[in-house]
Amino acid sequence: MTERLPTDDSMLSGTMPVLETVRKGTAAAPGIAIGRAYLMDRRRLKVPKRHVQPDEIDGEIERFHRALDASDRQLERIKEKIEARFDDHYNIIAAHQLILHDEHLVDETIRNMRDKAVNAEWALRKTVEHIRGVFDAIEDDYFRERRSDIEFVGERVLRNLLGRELQVQPPPDAIVVAYDLSPADTAQFYRAAVAGLATDAGGNTSHTAIIARAHEIPAVVGLEDITGVVGNGDLIVVDGTNGVVVLNPSPETVALYRERARLEAAQGVALLSNVDLPAVSKDDVRISLVANIDHEDEIKGALAYGAEGVGLFRTEFLYLTGPRVPDENDQFRHACSVIESLGGRPVTFRTMDLGADKMPAFMPDLHEANPALGLRSIRLCLSTQGRPLFKQQLRGLLRAAKNGNMRIMFPMISGVRELDLALEVLAEVKHELTRDGIPFAADTKVGIMIEMPSAAVVADHLARRVDFFSIGTNDLIQYTLAVDRVNEHVAYLYDSMHPSLLRLVDMVVRAANTVGIPVGLCGEMAGDINVVPLLLGLGLTELSMNAVAIPQVKQVIRASTVRELRKMAAHALTLPSGAEVKELVWGFVQRSRKA
Ligand code: PEP
Ligand code: MG
Repeated sequence: MTERLPTDDSMLSGTMPVLETVRKGTAAAPGIAIGRAYLMDRRRLKVPKRHVQPDEIDGEIERFHRALDASDRQLERIKEKIEARFDDHYNIIAAHQLILHDEHLVDETIRNMRDKAVNAEWALRKTVEHIRGVFDAIEDDYFRERRSDIEFVGERVLRNLLGRELQVQPPPDAIVVAYDLSPADTAQFYRAAVAGLATDAGGNTSHTAIIARAHEIPAVVGLEDITGVVGNGDLIVVDGTNGVVVLNPSPETVALYRERARLEAAQGVALLSNVDLPAVSKDDVRISLVANIDHEDEIKGALAYGAEGVGLFRTEFLYLTGPRVPDENDQFRHACSVIESLGGRPVTFRTMDLGADKMPAFMPDLHEANPALGLRSIRLCLSTQGRPLFKQQLRGLLRAAKNGNMRIMFPMISGVRELDLALEVLAEVKHELTRDGIPFAADTKVGIMIEMPSAAVVADHLARRVDFFSIGTNDLIQYTLAVDRVNEHVAYLYDSMHPSLLRLVDMVVRAANTVGIPVGLCGEMAGDINVVPLLLGLGLTELSMNAVAIPQVKQVIRASTVRELRKMAAHALTLPSGAEVKELVWGFVQRSRKA
């Protein structure tokens, strides 16, 4: 917990004290944070495209020059603030100033405006995309990295054209308040030691929420208008356990939350006492509890919470937060290092699941109307543009697999045809490695995520082609119920107990059992103690989750009798609505506690 008590400035200045306000959102990451608000505008810069009349073009060019000048002045001011000892930083800013005046950037943008009769923003964007493409094609890491300098400069000029201010890094202990945050931002915040997050947009299984939980940053999302009511520097409480945010809390409220934070911490410590115990039910069913992670530096923490391995490594974060697009050797080194950190415990690497809310800077914006239904994930990997990257990843992973206990998993498989295509690419990669005499583990287990209803329905066919299944309920719920997982307006419909979902999970488990392949579940509900009894009853024996949830889930498992949970799950499958399933499970849990 972070806290700074309010200084009652109002008494000194004679103004009225500000009133405490409570806002309800979606609980995204548990814990309590008390701190000062830091407002960020992280909405993706929308670049307007506008056709301009011939007599408007000179005006656009003039606007562009003004934006360049403003950017130059801003960089000059930044340079002035940098002390001589930060030589490198100073030089980078100076280089950015040079880029601002580079003929490739300036002349090409002006040419675009004239030739295509478009506004300055759009012309600039096209130029930056073009230059970025040129850098990408250069087979030299140094030059490829210069691409990000072009992007930084481009973004600065664009913000000046659009009249939007640039952000700076939030101070440690701040509560970041934003319309929305990208998963990459959230991962950086953990390193910047921010205390908590509060956003207008987002749902409980948005990647931002998932990362906040993994990094134990208390977070409330889906607050709708929090950015409109909080001022920079306001005192704010984020209660990520209950999905509540308190603005300008009174000293009594702060004291209350301080006490709650102390209690939560004490409960956490008590739960950790089961870390070395196995997750076995009363009737001896052994459940494997593994972690979902997106960065290698989470492994130590995951093991401390009792994770028996990694059930889902979201490798796309290598693309989102790394210094450059990872190539085969980066993949290889990364996987070897993860395997080593796990000391013989198993790890499942999911191949890159990019697109939708995980859009890396290097990917051109496709302007899709429905990105969650668009060219993403395995579809992108199988496309002409994505395939080289996909193959590099597979090569790196297959080589690393020689070093230990690892599996490969494909995301977003919709059915047999797509799976066969992905397996063909894998076979091609294996063939090329053999041809090149490069050692790799040919027998690496390959599985798929079942996260689309279409895949669940044909799971019997899919099961015969792979070594394992992992059910990704975050997306399975999204696609089954047609509820965008990052849209706060429909978050109330996102129901992990909906009978349609339970029936799909049941079908998948049965299909896997019929051919004898293992099946796990790695959606966020695997870590929700209110749902775990149902999952055990449906026959799942591997649960992969945010590691912080493992101690409580283990406690539930050790207190359960799976035989009884099976009967309860069979009953749940006959119920007509999520509300009734919830009631059934809740009643069951209450009765078993009393017994
Ligand atoms: C899922 O969809 O359930 C899943 C685990 O993958 P992600 O949350 O990364 O989409
Ligand atoms: Mg998914």
